[in-house]
Amino acid sequence: MMETWHTLSADAVTQRLVSDAANGLCGEEAARRLARYGPNEIVEAKGRSVIAMFLAQFRDFAILVLISVAVLSGVLGDVEDTLVIVAIVALNAAIGFIQDFRANRAMAELKRLGAPQATVVRDGRRSTIPAASMVPGDLVLLEAGCVAPADIRLIEAPQLKVSEAALTGEAFPIEKNVAPLDDAALPIADQINMVFKGTMITYGRARGIVVTTGMNTQLGRIAALLEQAPPASTPLQKRLAVFGRQLAVLVVVVCAVIFAAGVLRGEAVTQMLLTAASLAVAAIPEALPAVVTIMRALGARNMARRNALVRRLPAVETLGSVSWICTDKTGTLTRNEMRVTQICPSGENRVDVESAAHEGVTAQLLEAAALSNDAAYDERGGIAGDPTEVALWRMAADAGLDRRKLERSMPRCMEFAFDSDRKRMTTIHRAGSGFVAYTKGAPEAIVERCLSTARADGDNVDDRHGPLDQGALLAMAGAMAADGLRVLALARRAWPALPATGATPDTVERELTLIGFVGMLDPLRPGVSAAVTTCRAAGITLVMITGDHPMTARAIARSLGMLDEGDTIMTGRELAALADDELARRIEHVRVFARLDPAQKIRIVEAIQARGQYVAMTGDGVNDAPALARADIGVAMGRAGTDVAREAASLVLLDDDFTTIVAAVEEGRRIFANVRKFIRYVLTCNSAELWVVAASPLLGLPMPLLPIHILWINLLTDGLPGLAFAAEPAEPTLMQERARPPNEGLFTGGMWRQILWGGVAMAAVTLGVQAWGLHSGYAAWQTMTFTVLAFSQLGHALAIRSERTSLFAQGLKSNAPMLAAVALTAALQMAALYVPGLSAALRTTALSGPELALSLAASVIVFSLIEVEKLFFRRTRSDRPGRDRLAGETERGGESGGA
Ligand code: ATP
Repeated sequence: MMETWHTLSADAVTQRLVSDAANGLCGEEAARRLARYGPNEIVEAKGRSVIAMFLAQFRDFAILVLISVAVLSGVLGDVEDTLVIVAIVALNAAIGFIQDFRANRAMAELKRLGAPQATVVRDGRRSTIPAASMVPGDLVLLEAGCVAPADIRLIEAPQLKVSEAALTGEAFPIEKNVAPLDDAALPIADQINMVFKGTMITYGRARGIVVTTGMNTQLGRIAALLEQAPPASTPLQKRLAVFGRQLAVLVVVVCAVIFAAGVLRGEAVTQMLLTAASLAVAAIPEALPAVVTIMRALGARNMARRNALVRRLPAVETLGSVSWICTDKTGTLTRNEMRVTQICPSGENRVDVESAAHEGVTAQLLEAAALSNDAAYDERGGIAGDPTEVALWRMAADAGLDRRKLERSMPRCMEFAFDSDRKRMTTIHRAGSGFVAYTKGAPEAIVERCLSTARADGDNVDDRHGPLDQGALLAMAGAMAADGLRVLALARRAWPALPATGATPDTVERELTLIGFVGMLDPLRPGVSAAVTTCRAAGITLVMITGDHPMTARAIARSLGMLDEGDTIMTGRELAALADDELARRIEHVRVFARLDPAQKIRIVEAIQARGQYVAMTGDGVNDAPALARADIGVAMGRAGTDVAREAASLVLLDDDFTTIVAAVEEGRRIFANVRKFIRYVLTCNSAELWVVAASPLLGLPMPLLPIHILWINLLTDGLPGLAFAAEPAEPTLMQERARPPNEGLFTGGMWRQILWGGVAMAAVTLGVQAWGLHSGYAAWQTMTFTVLAFSQLGHALAIRSERTSLFAQGLKSNAPMLAAVALTAALQMAALYVPGLSAALRTTALSGPELALSLAASVIVFSLIEVEKLFFRRTRSDRPGRDRLAGETERGGESGGA
């Protein structure tokens, strides 16, 4: 099919695609077409194959050296050792492979969760379906904020504007219309009656027929030409990779020294080569980046379970560093389930909506509410749309107005869609021989454009001319807002003829007659107050941002306990008058921004960042996107939000709930803490192995461990218990500390010291047992040394689960995977001693009861030392409560102190 859809009339397109411009396709036909054309998806280049992933495990230099030395020594004689070494290395690779595979799968799963949706009409009903199941011929509804789900020929597009930057690079939104175009060879940038997959609707709404889907769309063709970019690694991952390489060099140097020293002492060269290579394999933490990926992916999955979808992976790490949260009010702090409770006809007297008589000005107010309304019946016969409009519709319906009937007698002829800059919208309807325009919006945005108020005279409603007391009207709206109500003004204007086609909102929305105000109540979401308290304890500054009235905002902020003595409210107008540096200075005490244009959000983000803080900013509309992209964590709404906002955000809230942001911050902090614990664990254990082998000759002891012992310990202890740190629950004090600056090195807070002394202590205990065993004439001294090192590492894993709480207070069961991992590892170590085949392969001797008891007792030493350290920490900390919290503002900026 040639892409000449733009040359056909809308009718011709509908006919060619055997569709229906009113009712869309029927369900069965859509299913048939889906089978024929395939899903509406951009097929991505295949990821790494399973075999490639497995082979990648052997690409490590140290492993290659180890395998070649093992093979060499096998050829020279010791075949059995070679087989054991190869088996262990293969097992190691298998574990690495499983880790990679799981990480990949978790990522794929996350991607699927974020699949886009689209609104279509099928069988005459509007319904929201996965964009992937759209087919050519589908009748689609588009509105500001959505990303076009396919290539679409428009059939109705009042004032539609589309940003095609994704496709053509043209940044400026293009105005679309529906007239057919002559030139069949028109470039896509000029096909203004078409909307292409992946482009963003920035203004207005439209209906259209899908002409192509999936890889046949313009976007699909481009995607087919492009190579899939590899997933970007995060700053933490990059730092770990650099750190890993540096550490590898260090380890190789130490191993070379150990090798040289051994050979000089007269040990066999192949044996020393094997020892050095095994040590290198064991001590180089090659799994660091992979494990971090898994922890992050698992963390992202946990967040998804808590309804926070991570769109950019670095967000998982950055989230824990957030020190300011700027949140929308409507729908995020409140439920966005609005209900009109009060009305104020003519702006004069407030009455409860239930007790209002439905005549005179009130009747007109109901009519305006029903007609100037974009809500619609959904597939189940409910009312769908913007909650503000749904509330107005409900009010009219409750008063007995039938909107469908009303629309038949007063059809909509023209409209100026709502946007949050104007804060109002207008629809124009046929009324008898003339027309009437209904405008609704924020009171200030309406009252300033009114010349008169509606006056009732029996059933006749007239305009009351004369000087309009704007001050009194706004005071009335303000009084309603001070009760926490969201207030909207409704107005009208009679038009003898329709305004000319080029008319702008500014020329039409003037000389209005005020019909009255409506006040809506939007209850707080459950749990929001508690989440606000959590934030404050966590040193996170909370700011409410709303397009709503300052009075409404203040009432809600008060009820949430967000306002302290000295905290202020700033309006969009005040903000516009401030210079950037002045704003950065004043923002410290501003807790509410009201009547804000979304475009101003970006200034707030920058002012907070100028103070060195890390800011999360929520948003849902097209205009929010720049601020979301600029914030350290952009948070978009999954339900109420637009595709455009979601594209710009790094986190999407599936339930639009503020408490979810706080949960995600907590999860971010937890993940980072666990990554640190994992690193501490692995480096302590690995360094202990190095110290043991390096120090024994200096102490005049024989080689304490065989190469296979080193590999075995590395296989057991790094693998399972290491991964189990991912399951470590949050420490109880996690949300009572200051946020950690994201560029802070991984090893702050004395972690280097802990790794150093932990490793040395573990090595000292191991060598002590070796020396003592030799001295006392135990034939099994080597097996004892081997066992002590293995069990000390397990004890260490349990002890560092918490940085301050004792394991006995934590309880073993609070991290069940860790308990299972430690139990399994311990069982395998016992098998290495007592299962005949295995003990022969690993060259161990079955320990006697006393020997085993002694080894186990020695293994508890390192565990006990760490418990004592934590005890000290708790003692000293409890003298200085909240030290972290008082530590002043965090520094942001350049990469400080690397990994
Ligand atoms: P928040 O910023 O907390 O989400 P908001 O919904 O009030 O709150 P906007 O959507 O920018 O923010 O709306 C700004 C103002 O425009 C509202 O306070 C209201 O007065 C008015 N308004 C909102 N929705 C409509 C609508 N559908 N029709 C007319 N006016 C509206």
